[in-house]
Amino acid sequence: MYWKASARRYSSVTPGVPDELQPPACVMQTGSVEESFTVRAFILSVLLLLAAMPAAFAAQSPAPSPMEQNRAESSSPQQEKPAYSLPPDKLARAIAYSRIRVILDFASSAWGILQLILLLALGVVARMRNAAVHLNQNRWAQGFAFTLLLLLVTTVLNLPFDLYGQHAALVYGQSVQGWGSWTWDMTKGFLLTFVFGGLLVMLLFRVIRWSPTRWWFWFWIPAMIFVLIAVFVAPVLIDPLFNKFEPLAKTNPALVDRLEQVVARGGIQIPPDRMFLMKASEKVTTLNAYVTGYGASKRVVVWDNSIRKATPDEISFIFGHEMGHYVLNHIPATLIFLGVLLLVEFYLGYRGVQWLLARYGVRWKIPSQQDWGALVALLLVISVLSFFSEPIVNGYSRMHEHEADVYGQEAIHGIVSDPQKVARQSFQLLGEMSLTDPNPNPFVEFWTFSHPSVSSRAAFAANYNPWIKGQHPKYFEK
Ligand SMILES: [Zn+2]
Repeated sequence: MYWKASARRYSSVTPGVPDELQPPACVMQTGSVEESFTVRAFILSVLLLLAAMPAAFAAQSPAPSPMEQNRAESSSPQQEKPAYSLPPDKLARAIAYSRIRVILDFASSAWGILQLILLLALGVVARMRNAAVHLNQNRWAQGFAFTLLLLLVTTVLNLPFDLYGQHAALVYGQSVQGWGSWTWDMTKGFLLTFVFGGLLVMLLFRVIRWSPTRWWFWFWIPAMIFVLIAVFVAPVLIDPLFNKFEPLAKTNPALVDRLEQVVARGGIQIPPDRMFLMKASEKVTTLNAYVTGYGASKRVVVWDNSIRKATPDEISFIFGHEMGHYVLNHIPATLIFLGVLLLVEFYLGYRGVQWLLARYGVRWKIPSQQDWGALVALLLVISVLSFFSEPIVNGYSRMHEHEADVYGQEAIHGIVSDPQKVARQSFQLLGEMSLTDPNPNPFVEFWTFSHPSVSSRAAFAANYNPWIKGQHPKYFEK
C-alpha cells in the first residue's frame, strides 16, 4: 500500500533495512513500500527474520526504480509525449540509479543465500553452535547466544551492500541522512531483530522438540499471531523509533479539511486525529503517504516531503489511493495471502531441512533439526523459497496497487477539477523525485516491482475517465 514506485531493498528511509522491513509508505510513488503497508512489510519481515536475520525490523520502503533496457522499444511511433517522462539529464541519472538498485537487489539476494551455504559448509555454524552450547546449560542463554552470533555474522557479511546502498542514495539525492543517524537506525534494527528474532527462535525450537514432524504447522500459528500483533503495534511502537510523527492537523489544518472531503466521498470514517505527518525530510527526499495498522492503531500517514512538493490536489489523489487500500480490504486480504504463503514455506522448510541434514548433516556437524545449527539450514531453505516467490508476492501486490490507483482517481472526482491530469501529474512528480526509470526492464518489473511501473500507472491515469466516456466508475456510484 505504499504509494511507491517500485523496487525494494535498500531504501533510504531506514538505511540498511531491507525495504520489506521498512515502514510503510505508499506514496504515490508507486509501489513498494510503497505499497507495502506495514502489514506486508511485517509479514515479510518475519519471513526474512526467519530467512536471513538481517538487521532489519522497521518497515518502510521507498524504493524505486529498476533498470533500463528496452529503451529501444519505447521509441515507437507514438508522437505524443509519454504520460511519464524525464528530461535528458534526469533520465541518465534515473537509469544509472535504477541499475544500481537492481544490481544491489539481485546481488544481495544471491549473497544472502550463498553466505548461508558457506557458513554451513565451512563449519562456522557448528562453531557458533558449540560456543552457544558451552556458554551455559540454560536453553534460553544458548538460543539467544546463537541468535546473536548469527545476526552479528550475517550483518557484517551484508554490510557492504547496505553501505553501498546508502552511499548511492546519497549520491543520487534520494537520501539526506548522515552516516551517524544511519548507523543508529541500523543499530536499532539490529537490536529489534535480536530481541524478537531470539524469542521466535526459542519458540521455534520448543515447538520442534514437542512435535518433530508437525512443527511447521504448530509454529505457523504463533508466527501469524506475532505478525498480527506486530502490524497492530508497529505504527505506535516501532515506526516512532525511526521517524518523527505529529498530528497532520497541527501544521496542515486546511489539508486535513480537504482530505476529509475525500474521506466523505469514500463513505468511510477516518477522523482527523488518525491523520499524521511524518518528518521524512530528515532522512529522504522522496514523497510518500501510506496507511498502516488496523483497528485502534489504523492511521493515515503523509510524509512532509509530499506536502512540500505536491499540490493539495495531488496529495488528495495520493491519499485517495491509500484510502482505496483500506476500503478495498487489501490489508486483511494481504494478511491471508501471505499467511498461506508462509505456511507453504514452513512446510517446504521442514522438508528441506530434513533433506539437507540427511545429506550434509555429518559434514556440517549438525546432527538433527533440534540442533541450534539447524536454524541456518531452515533459513537457507526459506531464503531460496522467498526469492523464488518474489514474483508471486509482487504480482499480487501490483494487482492491489492498480485497484488503489483506480479507486484514488475515482475518489477525487468532483473534488479536483481534472482527476486525469492530477493523477498523471502525481505520478510524474513521484517518478521525478525518486529518479524512476521510465522504461524499466520487463523482467525486473515482473520479479521485483511491488507496484506497476510509474510509466504504466501514469499512462493509465491519463486515459482513465469513465465519466466522459459514459462508462461507469468501478468503485463509486458516480
Ligand atoms: Zn498503494
